Amino acid sequence: MQTTKKIALEEHFLTPAFEEYLAPTAVNIDPAIYNRLRAQLLDFGSLRLDAMDRAGIERSVRSLAGPGVQREPDTAVARRGAREVNDLLAGEIRKQPRRYSGLAHLPMQDPAAAADELERCVGDLGFCGAMIHGHTNGEYFDHPKFYGFWERAEGIGAPIYLHPADPVSRYPAIAGCAALKRAMWEWSVETGSHTLRLVFGGILDRFPGVTLVLGHWGETLPYLLWRFDSRAAIYGLKLKKCPSEYIREQIFVTTSGMFSAEPLLCSIGALGAGRVMFSVDYPFESAAEAASFIENVPLHDQQRMDVCFRNAEKLLGLENR
Ligand code: MN
Repeated sequence: MQTTKKIALEEHFLTPAFEEYLAPTAVNIDPAIYNRLRAQLLDFGSLRLDAMDRAGIERSVRSLAGPGVQREPDTAVARRGAREVNDLLAGEIRKQPRRYSGLAHLPMQDPAAAADELERCVGDLGFCGAMIHGHTNGEYFDHPKFYGFWERAEGIGAPIYLHPADPVSRYPAIAGCAALKRAMWEWSVETGSHTLRLVFGGILDRFPGVTLVLGHWGETLPYLLWRFDSRAAIYGLKLKKCPSEYIREQIFVTTSGMFSAEPLLCSIGALGAGRVMFSVDYPFESAAEAASFIENVPLHDQQRMDVCFRNAEKLLGLENR
């Protein structure tokens, strides 16, 4: 296999203190598979570095396997927990500064504290941005109470990776059909819908400097741009720009969790190769499979380099690290 240098953006970790928050999400995973995933998530050493080496991944941008403190009912505990886990990640990055970077974990129950923590993580700890795991206790981030958070995120200039999480309750169309839960289908509906709330709820309009990153090739949004624009006109929606323009101008997508050419062609066609970034979703997906896919899928060399590392270097300010 030829190797193009790669930066991977959706690469998770866990600490024993945060395992309880992940448990409800991991409940359907076969115990033998969960034990392997758990070992990989807790590891900051050779398990991961070897997998990265084999896949040609120079740098792995690490984030907590969610939802973390976003599932915490006590806001003070959430604030403290987020700080602790960010400090822990910063310590691990200091041991491997050329291999690891970080996305902050935020206590979104308290938007002002979340913005403070984002500022601390980017400014003091050198993190690249934050990962938010969907709604927090049923609140979505188009609510006016989050305007201050978005304003601060815009000012800091840090991208926000909107990662899937379980919905507040099962949609009627999914309830009773266990096969559709979570990563099969439910999370794309949930995370795609949350993103569209930020588009149609005017967050991206109000804060044009906000940049979002979506995994899983944009949670189906690149496929649907024409329909959003067409229906926005028919339903008389009042946004300054077409919905597709906000998505094209303020959203990046990653290859996490889906290693096939169809969504790549769609995403590059809809958003451009400058908006697509390589990711694995380690350890829930195989780094080797992700790497083999991006090395071999038909792309111009320039586009492959953009997707594999150049876009991430530019967006995350990693050129000189
Ligand atoms: Mn993930």
